[in-house]
Amino acid sequence: MTSKEIRQSYKDFFQSKEHRIVPSAPMVIKDDPTLMFTNAGMNQFKDVILGNAPIKYPRVADSQKCLRVSGKHNDLEEVGHDTYHHTMFEMLGNWSFGDYFKKEAIEWAWEYLTEVLKLDKDRLYATVFEGAPEENLERDDEAASYWEKYLPKERIINGNKKDNFWEMGDTGPCGPCSEIHIDIRPESERAKVDGLTLVNNDHPQVVEIWNLVFMQYNRKADGSLEQLPAKVIDTGMGFERLCMAVQGTLSNYDTDLFQPIIGKIGEISDKKYGEDEKVDIAMRVIADHVRTIAFSITDGQLPSNAKAGYVIRRILRRAVRYGYTFLNMHESFMYRLIPTLIEVMGDAYPELEAQQGLIEKVMKEEEESFLRTLETGIKLLERNLPEKEGGVLSGEVAFKLYDTFGFPLDLTELILREHGMSADVAGFNAEMQKQKDRARNAAAVETGDWTKVHDGEPEFVGYDETESTAHILRYRAVK
Ligand code: ATP
Ligand code: MG
Ligand code: MG
Ligand code: MG
Repeated sequence: MTSKEIRQSYKDFFQSKEHRIVPSAPMVIKDDPTLMFTNAGMNQFKDVILGNAPIKYPRVADSQKCLRVSGKHNDLEEVGHDTYHHTMFEMLGNWSFGDYFKKEAIEWAWEYLTEVLKLDKDRLYATVFEGAPEENLERDDEAASYWEKYLPKERIINGNKKDNFWEMGDTGPCGPCSEIHIDIRPESERAKVDGLTLVNNDHPQVVEIWNLVFMQYNRKADGSLEQLPAKVIDTGMGFERLCMAVQGTLSNYDTDLFQPIIGKIGEISDKKYGEDEKVDIAMRVIADHVRTIAFSITDGQLPSNAKAGYVIRRILRRAVRYGYTFLNMHESFMYRLIPTLIEVMGDAYPELEAQQGLIEKVMKEEEESFLRTLETGIKLLERNLPEKEGGVLSGEVAFKLYDTFGFPLDLTELILREHGMSADVAGFNAEMQKQKDRARNAAAVETGDWTKVHDGEPEFVGYDETESTAHILRYRAVK
């Protein structure tokens, strides 16, 4: 099946189960000071779930554009380095607002995966909440009993609060969840190591594809739990991972969602995918980020100097850097990938084609302006080069390049190496630490799916990013 067919089959399946198919909400959120980007399918139903908006349809399903680059869900560092986390991805979801509950949610998930898509049952695992005695929460035996109709007991795995209990925030709806994982490794690998031991262990080919959340409690301000009067089913399935499983590839990037884009990057850069790990990472980063930037622009969020726009700008720059460093792309090129992206996703998201001209223009300008910054940074670096071969660049200059010109340490080191020199890594890290200490004093606003609004709107002043350390969001509360 092609990705287009898979996406459609999901909607058709849930329509046949009397779900209303709704459009994706925008990926960029303009009217919620607590959340910059849609990071899950349920975001657009927050008010319905909280009981602040009427239930228009008790059963809905959709494919939602999500972005996970800030706040509670931040996968940016992984993207490109692994093969199954994206910045922007599509989340297929079905919901029940006070209608069906665990039994149907599990039954239909199983039916869709094994009967419609015909995924191999022997490769599937389910996780269920193991319970939390300190809160008087028992194991989710109910969910387990439904899974037992389809799966042998040993492939139903207990999971802890972190993976198997979902909460909207400090208070509000919450409940256990049950994830479906798939082992897509070749037979020979499977014979060596039991997939059981690899579930929820960051293995790129034993991955979580679907999360079924059973909201059955309300957490009150004193921390205690009460039963929710209207229980909610909220599911989310990673579409790109599903395509990988259905199409029998070992990486999301080998599916028909990404291969055409990677092919085009290869053509433009005259490099081949699959020969050199660094080149591959760069190609994956670019193939991923071009989607994010294009969809952000169609949602009305252009790259800029503040808030969401700044996040988008940094993502674009990350792609340009990888292209510059590992693909030798010293001229703007990402905008040339847009026609290919439209071929792949234009049917499902007509906004891409409708705004093609704008996307290309904005991207090209951003790329060119950042490439000029890169060149200026390189000149600064060359002016500050140590006196002789084997010399060491000071940590201060390396950090200035990073902070002002967006040079991660590995780019600086790469350039230095060409001159037979190196950087003072300890000095760089010390400068970085000083920066983090300054940032720690500022209030982080995005800690959960939603957080309380602080006094005055928080001002986003940027984020730091390196390839080896977790990046931090820096906010400064407006006085
Ligand atoms: P993971 O543990 O793999 O990071 P998650 O538990 O954070 O996933 P959920 O919040 O449960 O993910 O989201 C529902 C589904 O969305 C996941 O089961 C997965 O298939 C998909 N998904 C989550 N994050 C990403 C991502 N960054 N890129 C692509 N798909 C994702
Ligand atoms: Mg995650
Ligand atoms: Mg998970
Ligand atoms: Mg999950």
